[in-house]
Amino acid sequence: MFRKARIRLTAQYSAVFLICFWAFSLGIKLWMDKFLEVDVGEALMKIPFIKLSGIDLGDVVPDINEAALDQLQFIMVILNLALLVIIPVLCWYLTGKVLEPVRQAHDAQRQFVSDAAHELRTPLTIIQGEIEVALKKARQPDEYRAVLASSRQELRHLAALSERLLFLARQDDGQEPLRREAIDLTDMVSSILASYRGPLAEKAISLRFVPAEDSISIAGDPMMLSRLISNLMDNAIKFTPRDGCITVTLSLAGKEAVIDVSDTGIGIAPEMQDKIFDRFARADDSRGETKGFGLGLSICRTIATRHGGAISVFSTPGKGSTFSLRLPLP
Ligand code: ADP
Repeated sequence: MFRKARIRLTAQYSAVFLICFWAFSLGIKLWMDKFLEVDVGEALMKIPFIKLSGIDLGDVVPDINEAALDQLQFIMVILNLALLVIIPVLCWYLTGKVLEPVRQAHDAQRQFVSDAAHELRTPLTIIQGEIEVALKKARQPDEYRAVLASSRQELRHLAALSERLLFLARQDDGQEPLRREAIDLTDMVSSILASYRGPLAEKAISLRFVPAEDSISIAGDPMMLSRLISNLMDNAIKFTPRDGCITVTLSLAGKEAVIDVSDTGIGIAPEMQDKIFDRFARADDSRGETKGFGLGLSICRTIATRHGGAISVFSTPGKGSTFSLRLPLP
């Protein structure tokens, strides 16, 4: 598709440029012809100084003009022949450059749609399979209950997936306005952490919160920022084995507030560290084991970017990871 578009654009642009150059050359030639129709030699002889010198320019000038015109015509022909090659090559190169970001965006979009379709199909296939098996013969009420419970689980999975996809789509649109409220980060982070007591206790993970010396206030959307920090906490708990430790640190760095969420979990391979913020990206060994969609960090990055901030990761496989969120101060 992009190759065809590139060929078509190259042909169209080349035609336009070549027509312009040829018209220009023709214009010059016609102008020169007209110019030479005037007897330049005679005109020059009317100048008193030349008249007094006694040289008859009327004989010499026509020859010079003729030779100059021949030479100009030759140069024009060579130049236009060269342009016949140079312009299409240049247009091919430039259209390639212009189309490259469009191609990349198109590929990313196609990949996203195919991943989303795959994620949606899996639970649907499970629900369909279980219902078909259940309907093959008469069963006990308990068996039907089990099928319904399993289907409900898959439907919750689907609902969560569509909610995340919808969130990302709305943020991509950029039409949803971002609320800007004054937020005390220390208050917000400590109340989020308080809600994790249960899941932390379940895995016997210890939590350390290191607030900044002074309170840090930023302007942002509290719902979105809570979601971001909760995503980081969910992952930290998910990927940290029993008896591990999670540390959340708040600090100031220049004109930015920094929130670090560090864990003593499984870590992330260096080659995956750039990719995990992409949509549907999951580190290989976590596929299947944990039931994530691979959208959590992509949502985190979207929220951080919308607030004018950024998120990054530092991780050592087998030792743990630190996710660092930077948000500009008002
Ligand atoms: P998921 O919903 O699968 O957790 P995320 O986008 O939140 O999706 O994370 C993408 C991938 O990044 C995860 O599948 C996991 O491989 C890796 N990851 C995220 N957070 C951590 C962490 N704290 N420790 C180790 N790996 C992590």
